[in-house]
Amino acid sequence: MKFLIVCLIIGYLLYKNNSLKKSLSILNQRINNLTIEKNNNSNQNSTLNQNYKSTEEKIESIKKSTYYYKEKNFWDSSLEKEVYFYINNFIKNKSAKVEIVPHVSLRELFKPTSDFNNQNLKQLSSYHIDILLLSEKSFVPLVAIEIDGSHHKLNDRQKIRDAFKDSLLERNGIQLLRLKADNCNYAFIESELTRLLNTAPIYCPICGRKMLEKNNSKSGKKFFGCSGFPLACDHTESSCYKII
Ligand SMILES: [Zn+2]
Repeated sequence: MKFLIVCLIIGYLLYKNNSLKKSLSILNQRINNLTIEKNNNSNQNSTLNQNYKSTEEKIESIKKSTYYYKEKNFWDSSLEKEVYFYINNFIKNKSAKVEIVPHVSLRELFKPTSDFNNQNLKQLSSYHIDILLLSEKSFVPLVAIEIDGSHHKLNDRQKIRDAFKDSLLERNGIQLLRLKADNCNYAFIESELTRLLNTAPIYCPICGRKMLEKNNSKSGKKFFGCSGFPLACDHTESSCYKII
């Protein structure tokens, strides 16, 4: 009987010992897993550190960039070049109070709204205005000139591009002169530019705000006064002021 009891006790102890070993091995496994996770995290950190570039490294990588190349010709066509120099001479001879800039990217003129997508941004970056007339000194866009020479094929892509530009210019109060093969002559350019510039708003050469037609309170004489008056700007021009 005593022998049986001793056997039972030894058996129980052996069983306990085994389950203890199992628990220990599970615990060890967990510790190992934790160590592996920790190592993985530190590896990720070192990868992040490898991706981090100092300003000097970024400058070096920009210097090596091969994404861009120099375009051969600044002008889209010889007609565009000819019209630009003709208008440049015309406004100088007339002492028009405008600045002239050729080949202006839409990106320079319009700021995208926050809901713009990548496609819209691409359109804005890749399209340009052939010639732009801006107000003297304050550089507010007044008239955009597009030259649709014989190269200007009216396929669907071109129609969409034209519509995009036209609506953008109209919504932002910039007048458009579209020169086509049948009207691109000097007499038409001169008369249309004179008409468009004479109807364009006058902008203050000092601050760029619109000039308003006002009456002198004492003499009753008419003059143009800056809309920034009296807080921001007190610039005035005589009532004879004309852009062209
Ligand atoms: Zn002003």
